[in-house]
Amino acid sequence: MKNVVFITIDALRYDMLKEILPCLKNIKKLCEESSFFENCFTNGAWTGTSFLSIFTGKLPSHFQSLKVTKIHSFTEILRRNGIKTAGFHTNAWLSRFFGYDKLFDVFYDGLNPTKSGFYKFKRFMKNILKNKPKLSRLFEFLFAVWKSLKNRDQNNSIILTQKSIDFIKNNNNFFLWIHYLDVHEPTIDINERIMFKRLKQFLLNYKAMYHKEKLTKQDLDYLKSLYKTSLINIDHEIGKIIDALKQTKKYDETAIIITSDHGQEFMEHGDFGHNGSVYEEIIHIPLIIKTGKRENKKELLDLKELFHTIPHLLGLKTKKNMLTMKGKGWIISEGYINQIHTPENPIIKKENLKIAIRTNKMKYIKNRDKEELYNLEKDPMEKENIISKKASLGFKKILEGVYGKT
Ligand SMILES: [Zn+2]
Repeated sequence: MKNVVFITIDALRYDMLKEILPCLKNIKKLCEESSFFENCFTNGAWTGTSFLSIFTGKLPSHFQSLKVTKIHSFTEILRRNGIKTAGFHTNAWLSRFFGYDKLFDVFYDGLNPTKSGFYKFKRFMKNILKNKPKLSRLFEFLFAVWKSLKNRDQNNSIILTQKSIDFIKNNNNFFLWIHYLDVHEPTIDINERIMFKRLKQFLLNYKAMYHKEKLTKQDLDYLKSLYKTSLINIDHEIGKIIDALKQTKKYDETAIIITSDHGQEFMEHGDFGHNGSVYEEIIHIPLIIKTGKRENKKELLDLKELFHTIPHLLGLKTKKNMLTMKGKGWIISEGYINQIHTPENPIIKKENLKIAIRTNKMKYIKNRDKEELYNLEKDPMEKENIISKKASLGFKKILEGVYGKT
């Protein structure tokens, strides 16, 4: 293939994509000529760590920092081989502050706070209110309301799609990465034209994010429907990119990859969003690779293998690739407990790691003071912890092999 278009959808879990696939006109059609990976898992439980793994091919804890350096990234291999690279997104955790701009020839991270009057105003107000925490929180809240009413994510997605189309038209032999944020909370129905209803949707998201204990079943159902509606919107954007590839006659020589960085919790294990847990709703993500042939892949694989697979798709020699790999029978996902992520101090603290080892049938989870074991065949919702000393032995051996003696 001459080109790869790598589309990532923030916080998209596998089961939700599967459920709504019949309504996703463009992704569904793409599946007819793609490998569909049923058992692919992320190595990091949130954006910062997950992408670190994807771009470097290593577990997140291999690094001391969330900052990615170009010498570790597969994009550098592509560039050395004359392939033009571009990255378009609006997620601050993947921005120039974390080194992502250095990975691409053309880069856009949506950050331009110095030019935006509203962000200047926000900084000014935060400064004034710095000794008044209650007022400061109220201001933050109102600012978030304004952002949601402005249809932030939809506007961003349209910009990202347009940038991608322009790049496709003007380049040959390229790697293009687009990261959409629409299904990430707060999720708002962008087709809802009545501002009051959009405000209501935002307030429900706010309740989920800050007062999750008050969520009712009805609330959760509504939040899930907003999530699915947002996915339909992304499908529409993906359709535009596919059209551009076809119009420029580049479609047949372009591999398209669709995946996600992690899933999303809707209170299955007492939490909303993605806050470091490693249950299935967080680590099981979809992976679709358009190669021209329809195939259902059942092998247990993890996203860090994209490090080898993307250069392989572009015709470069690699040790292995996901299209022919059988996997080693288990994968590791890294979550965290009590980790505070700040751009100023982007360190993944080893003592805060929560490690999941996932096989086809079982999942073992270990953090500093707790062990869990689930039989996923009998208990797919991971409700009954069946840990015992004997049962944990094999998993501890794997841990030792990967992390050394602790
Ligand atoms: Zn994310």
